[in-house]
Amino acid sequence: MAQEDYYKILGVDRNASDQDISKAYRKLAKKYHPDLNHEPGAEQKYKDVNEAYEVLHDKQKRAQYDQFGSAGVNGQGGFGGQSAYGGFNGQGFGDFSDIFGDIFGSGFGGGQRRRANPTDPVRGQDLDYTLTIDFMDAITGKKTQVSYTRSTTCETCHGTGAEKGTHPITCDKCHGSGYMTITQQSAFGVIQRQTVCDKCHGKGAIIEHPCQTCHGEGVVDAKNTIEVDIPAGIDNGQQLRYQGQGEAGRNGGPYGDLYISYRIKPSKDFERRGTTIYTTVPISFAQATLGDEIEVKTVHGTSKLKVPAGTQPNKKFTLKGEGVPYLRGGGNGDQITTIEVRIPKSVNERQRQALVDFVSASGESITPQGKGFFERLKEKLSGEE
Ligand SMILES: [Zn+2]
Ligand SMILES: [Zn+2]
Repeated sequence: MAQEDYYKILGVDRNASDQDISKAYRKLAKKYHPDLNHEPGAEQKYKDVNEAYEVLHDKQKRAQYDQFGSAGVNGQGGFGGQSAYGGFNGQGFGDFSDIFGDIFGSGFGGGQRRRANPTDPVRGQDLDYTLTIDFMDAITGKKTQVSYTRSTTCETCHGTGAEKGTHPITCDKCHGSGYMTITQQSAFGVIQRQTVCDKCHGKGAIIEHPCQTCHGEGVVDAKNTIEVDIPAGIDNGQQLRYQGQGEAGRNGGPYGDLYISYRIKPSKDFERRGTTIYTTVPISFAQATLGDEIEVKTVHGTSKLKVPAGTQPNKKFTLKGEGVPYLRGGGNGDQITTIEVRIPKSVNERQRQALVDFVSASGESITPQGKGFFERLKEKLSGEE
């Protein structure tokens, strides 16, 4: 797997934004989710998509992947230096073209490619949360609370990262751009390439007195608890967005969003596909033959079902409006109940007698198996003569 291109797996191009990557991931994860997609190969695709996303939505891992291929993120290649721009020891980078890409892309083209100002506001990352709920809660709806850890803007410094009464100052080495141009002698001649400013580490600003609470980061991890509405009719794999409940932004940027994916526990009584509920109900062969009115369990309680005389095994009945509520309101789906005709595993003497009479009344002749039955039948027939 590690040989495949993570960008290709997610179907995005190499310049895709974090948002594009998250969006593509959510779409594919839903498509190949093992609960939703039972096609062969779907599970592997689901794993691949997750592996790709794990790397590409992490800024540092993505930068390493971009430069060194999967060897960089899997740690198998063993390149030296933590910085994506730092020196590597010449082993284990995934693809030589990555290095050319770096030199030509940001070296020769340097200055033409616009880089974002590192002190501009940046929106926080989106978060994903899987909420597992009981089968019936997805039918009736419910309010619940969800707690998770996310980065929040530091209250001590209000996100600046600088101690109270002080402010970050613009980096004098890169003049706030976060990048500096270095001139290098190489096989191609003199190359100018841009690299991350080594004084401010790309932040464009320097904090001389870091905030004690967040150690200059401007954000701290904190537990966040929100009230979540489980809408009646929500289905497995569906997602709801909670705006502003994701990670804190940087430089005064807004919070990201929280995406809650619902995972619904199976029920022992009901099977659900979309808004349709499927059940099986056992009846006796006498009920099937003569007809009956029976009570059928539904997600809303019970419902009466008229079984007509002569109902065959596996006959399906539709109970209109007894299924799952439509998410947008305006009624329910249906329940489809399959009749299972039960044959008795043993019968008592009276039942045997009745069946023998039934056979004879039908003008049939049978050879019952099972010693006791046969013996008694013989006795009975000989007694009658
Ligand atoms: Zn702080
Ligand atoms: Zn700088």
